[in-house]
Amino acid sequence: MQMLKTDQEWMLLALKTAKENSSTAEFEEIGATGAVEEIGALKKAKDIPVGAVIVHNGQLICASGNRKEILNDVTAHAEIVALREAAAISGTWRCQKGTTIYTTLEPCPMCAEAILQARVAKVVFGAYDPLSGALGSAFNLYGQKRIYPVPEVVGGILESECSNLLKEFFAQNRSD
Ligand SMILES: [Zn+2]
Repeated sequence: MQMLKTDQEWMLLALKTAKENSSTAEFEEIGATGAVEEIGALKKAKDIPVGAVIVHNGQLICASGNRKEILNDVTAHAEIVALREAAAISGTWRCQKGTTIYTTLEPCPMCAEAILQARVAKVVFGAYDPLSGALGSAFNLYGQKRIYPVPEVVGGILESECSNLLKEFFAQNRSD
């Protein structure tokens, strides 16, 4: 029988995804196939390290980091990119029953709504976001009566690891 991973283990994978997304190595990898100007643009683009992982029945469906800068797309938050990838894999935007999304940062209103619309059953997040968090910190998007089932929410899994990654990122990029 397959051992199911714990919330902490899935969150570790989301954290790893977040870290890789903002790594120079990845920019170089993308740049290897691109033009010189593109490499320059990619190196300048530093995405805030947030990672999201979508899981169904203990199986990984997909994982993505925040791609806003790399894709020059304001909607390319980690959760949205992961939902798009899951839809491409399964051929439908509607997630299967019992799907969970793990994200290193409390979803913003855009992502929280997309998660609900995609029929995700459970949201597990790491760091709380007092400025934009839509699952209770700044707003509570799931607090009102909705026509769709409201996902179950678990916050604060590996909270310090997830928030330290963001703090380190902002500290580094302020000193650049
Ligand atoms: Zn978002």
